[in-house]
Amino acid sequence: MALRELKVCLLGDTGVGKSSIVWRFVEDSFDPNINPTIGTKLFVKILPLSATFNSLSCSFSTGQVRASFMTKTVQYQNELHKFLIWDTAGQERFRALAPMYYRGSAAAIIVYDITKEETFSTLKNWVRELRQHGPPSIVVAIAGNKCDLTDVREVMERDAKDYADSIHAIFVETSAKNAININELFIEISRRIPSTD
Ligand code: GDP
Repeated sequence: MALRELKVCLLGDTGVGKSSIVWRFVEDSFDPNINPTIGTKLFVKILPLSATFNSLSCSFSTGQVRASFMTKTVQYQNELHKFLIWDTAGQERFRALAPMYYRGSAAAIIVYDITKEETFSTLKNWVRELRQHGPPSIVVAIAGNKCDLTDVREVMERDAKDYADSIHAIFVETSAKNAININELFIEISRRIPSTD
């Protein structure tokens, strides 16, 4: 069976749920105690290097860049898709993510929190950052996370969808907590990435 390797990087403000989305996708679990202020993603440090056949995780630091990295392989139609997922490990505040973070990425997931309007406002900055430093043909997906908290929603789904459409991005509302649209997000990304053969 053919194997496709797809590098995917995550962008978005601290605390929107990037690590939780990755964690849900790779390990199908949710840790409410992930501490967004700590800056490093603790979970990558406590996992054994190769937790299962399908997942591998590590974190590393080279010069000023810190990133965490996980992989997951899923079968989709007649192909195996190996996602190489890069998370920012708390570098969001410094904005200038090194080009190595984006280099070779087939897709970027930009995450905001539906309960925090400001995280949606800064989405445009993340898109600009990506356009400046990311590969030109990168597939962009926007995820409105924490959709389990609709009673404290600040961002309308329609507004986010309209914005995503205007930049030709995939759009979904997700909940890492309740496992809503997480697998669907990654499947849609792999569907949109053109095959290289
Ligand atoms: P990151 O800084 O963007 O990587 O965000 P984290 O994954 O560290 O999550 C920040 C906080 O939001 C943590 O307390 C998570 O438990 C919480 N969180 C993440 N995803 C969800 C979600 O889908 N729903 C709810 N209610 N909380 C979430």
